[in-house]
Amino acid sequence: MNAPTAAAHLLPEIQLRDVPQALIDALQARFGAQCSLAQAVREQHGRDEGSLQAPPPSAVVFAESTQDVAEAVKLASQYEVPMIPYGAGSSLEGHLLAVQGGISIDVSRMNQVLSINAEDLTVTVQPGITRKALNEAIKDTGLFFPIDPGADASIGGMSATRASGTNAVRYGTMRENVLALEVVTASGEVIHTGTRAKKSSAGYDLTRLMVGSEGTLGIMTEITVRLYPLPEAVSAAICSFPSIEAAVRTTIQIIQIGVPIARVELIDHHTVRMVNAHSKLTLREEPMLLMEFHGSPASVKEQAEMVQDIASEFGGQAFEWASTPEERTRLWTARHNAYFAAVQSRPGCRAISTDTCVPISRLADCLLESVDEVEASGIPYFLVGHVGDGNFHFGYLIDPNSAEERTKAEAMNHTLVARALSMGGTCTGEHGVGIHKMGFLLDETGTGAVDMMRAIKRALDPKNILNPGKIFAL
Ligand SMILES: Cc1cc2nc3c(=O)[nH]c(=O)nc-3n(C[C@H](O)[C@H](O)[C@H](O)COP(=O)(O)OP(=O)(O)OC[C@H]3O[C@@H](n4cnc5c(N)ncnc54)[C@H](O)[C@@H]3O)c2cc1C
Repeated sequence: MNAPTAAAHLLPEIQLRDVPQALIDALQARFGAQCSLAQAVREQHGRDEGSLQAPPPSAVVFAESTQDVAEAVKLASQYEVPMIPYGAGSSLEGHLLAVQGGISIDVSRMNQVLSINAEDLTVTVQPGITRKALNEAIKDTGLFFPIDPGADASIGGMSATRASGTNAVRYGTMRENVLALEVVTASGEVIHTGTRAKKSSAGYDLTRLMVGSEGTLGIMTEITVRLYPLPEAVSAAICSFPSIEAAVRTTIQIIQIGVPIARVELIDHHTVRMVNAHSKLTLREEPMLLMEFHGSPASVKEQAEMVQDIASEFGGQAFEWASTPEERTRLWTARHNAYFAAVQSRPGCRAISTDTCVPISRLADCLLESVDEVEASGIPYFLVGHVGDGNFHFGYLIDPNSAEERTKAEAMNHTLVARALSMGGTCTGEHGVGIHKMGFLLDETGTGAVDMMRAIKRALDPKNILNPGKIFAL
C-alpha cells in the first residue's frame, strides 16, 4: 500500500472533446423525440447526488431497447464522442459527470422484467428497472431481491457500481448476485456473459469484470440476478447504546460468533436526531443499532436472544421490536432517508460522503478515531454504517460556497481513507470510485493493479469513449 496522495479529492481538469453537429443531427434523425437537447434535461443527466460539478452532456438519448443502445453507441463511436450510461442518477462520486463532454445514454425506459425463473431463483431484467419496481413485480412469487442501496437505484446502475446496502451482511453485494449480462460494447456489438447456472468455470469471468466497471467498459442491457425466498419470519429491533464504541463492539461480536443476522446498521446520535426531525419519530437520541433477523420463527427467536445477550454485555438498552411489516417499513424508510434527513438539517449544504470499509476486527479502531477527528473539526456531519460488513459512511455537511469547509472535509476524508487502508480496508465499500476516489484507488491498489485496469480499458474501449475520465486517468 502506498501513502495516500493529497490530490485524491480534486476534480480532474475538464477537457471537453468536440461533439460534432453531424453526430447530433444523426442522433436526432435516428431517435427523434428520444433524443433531447433541452438544457434542463442535459443538466439533470450531467450530475449525480455527490458534490462535484461539470458542464452537462451535449445531448441525452433515451434508449428503449438494446438495439437503440447499440445504434447510439455505433454513432458515438463513429465520431469518437464520449458516452455516459445513465440509470437512476443516484450515484455519489461524480460517476455521471461529463468531464470530457459527450452524450448521456439514459436506459431508465428499459425497465421491463424479461423473465422470472422462480424455480431457479433468478430473474432477468432490463437495466432501467429500479430495485423497488423489481420487488413489486415479483411480489407474488414468494421471492425477493435483497440488495437495497438507500436510493431507489436501477439494477443497471447498481451492477455498474457493484452496489450493496443494508442486507449485504446476509445476502452479499451485486458482485455475488449478478449471474449473467447482455452488454453493448464500445463498438456497438452485443455480447453475453455468464449463464443462469449457479456456477461456471467457462473462461475469464467477464460478468464480474463488468460488475463495478462504472459504465467504462460496456453498457449493460440485460441483467440476470439471484432471488431469495421471502423469509418465513422477520423481526426488526432497535437497541440504543451508551456509546458508539459499545454499539460497534456488539456488532463485532455478533459477526465473529456467526449470527446470520440479515441487517445490522449503526446510526449515531446526531443522525438519530436528524432522522427524528425528518421522519417525525421519537427514537432515543443515542447511538443505536437497527437490526433485522430472517429465518424460521425458531431461528429468528434464537438469533434475537443471542444478540440481546451480547448487546446487554455492552450496555445496550432494552430492545424495541418491530414485528409487523408496517412498523418495519417505517423504520427502514427512516433509515434509508437518513441522508436526506441530514442534508435537510443544514439548509443549502452538500454532503461529502465517505465509504471506507475495514476488516471487522478493525472496525472499532477505525470508526472511533474518525469520530474524534470529525468532532474536533466543527463540521456538522452524519454517521451511518452497514457495520456488519465493516462499512460506514460519514457525510460531512459542508456549505458549498465555503472553500475552507470543503478543504477541511476533503482532508478528513483523506485521513480516514489512509486510516482504513492502513488497517487492511478499502476506500470504497459500495459507492465506487467515480471521479472523487480516483487518487484513493491508486493508494489502495498501487500502480501495478491500476496499470492492469488501464490495459483492460484500452483493449475494450480503444477510443476511450465509454464514460471516460472515471476510475483512473488514462
Ligand atoms: C440517499 C442515498 C443512499 C445511498 N445508499 C447506498 C447504499 O447503501 N449502498 C450503495 O451501494 N450505494 C448507495 N448509494 C449510491 C447509489 O444509490 C448507488 O451507487 C447506485 O448503485 C447507483 O445506481 P443508479 O441507477 O442511480 O446509477 P447512476 O447514478 O445512474 O449511474 C451510476 C454509474 O453506473 C453507470 N451505469 C448506469 N447504468 C448502467 C448500465 N446499464 N450499464 C453500464 N453502466 C451503467 C453510470 O454510467 C455511472 O457510472 C446511495 C445514494 C443515495 C443518494
